[in-house]
Amino acid sequence: MPAGRYAPSPSGELHLGNLRTGMLAWLFARSTGRAFLLRFEDLDTARTVPGSAEQQLQDLHAMGLTFDVQDGAEMIWQSERTDRYAAAIAQLEQAGLTYECFCSRREIREAARAPHGPTGAYPGTCRDLDTAERARRRAQRPAAVRLRTPRTETGAAQRFAVEDVLLGRLSTEVDDFVIQRNDGAAAYNLAVVVDDQLTGVDQVVRGDDLASSTPSQAYLRGLLYGTEAAAKVQYAHVPLVLNIEGERLAKRDGAVTRAALEEQGIEAEALRDLLLVSLGLPAGPLGQALGSFDPEALPSEPWVFQPP
Ligand code: GLU
Repeated sequence: MPAGRYAPSPSGELHLGNLRTGMLAWLFARSTGRAFLLRFEDLDTARTVPGSAEQQLQDLHAMGLTFDVQDGAEMIWQSERTDRYAAAIAQLEQAGLTYECFCSRREIREAARAPHGPTGAYPGTCRDLDTAERARRRAQRPAAVRLRTPRTETGAAQRFAVEDVLLGRLSTEVDDFVIQRNDGAAAYNLAVVVDDQLTGVDQVVRGDDLASSTPSQAYLRGLLYGTEAAAKVQYAHVPLVLNIEGERLAKRDGAVTRAALEEQGIEAEALRDLLLVSLGLPAGPLGQALGSFDPEALPSEPWVFQPP
């Protein structure tokens, strides 16, 4: 069954912006007859906060989100799926589409700033190292693995585009992005693509801060699973919630989580209604909003929230 999903990182409590994105992802999925899946993105173990996934699940339930069962549970965990990521990386390696990269962040920044160097994209420092140089670098530091992407005649990264339901055409340069970090963990862009494909996700709804990585992910999905599968995916990047200074809402903004708002006397149902109304939808149970849900009518501007 085709599916949508919500994929939080269990690195703390969800704030209002996260909850609003989750509600939107649910509305997009359920209004199009899709299953709705929950995936905890816990590959970055240093950022994972024990207990926060359970807390996030409670908060999502309190907003009215329901999830379909996968492998006998209401959610999957990326940390339990590392064999799938390794298989995908091996598939790309066997196709000659990867190379080891030994660059530090600083080296990448400096190389990208060099005169006539490409800007933004990975400058390709490790793309064509010979065997001896690779062995020398390997002895110095562990390698990350990058995807070898096509170049233009001048050696620049090529643009790749996808259509977004809300933002229209998203087009970015697809550079040689990292698919395996130098600590051996699968990189975010690789894990998202593998999980979305293997769990039947063909609708990706998430915050518009992630829009710029979408062409790279769509390109990778085409490489791994065929361009036909990749072309079927619908993308919707939704506006963020901002604080009164116009910055992306964050926990330091005060009472912006369900628990903190409850302490201020705003119960879960009132919070759900506040978020629905901010989306131009009627207050009430989430299921009732389905009838009036129309992606075209969603506000295109970020919503500014002032904590009580
Ligand atoms: N885990 C990411 C986040 O919490 C979302 C990734 C995605 O939806 O693709 O921002």
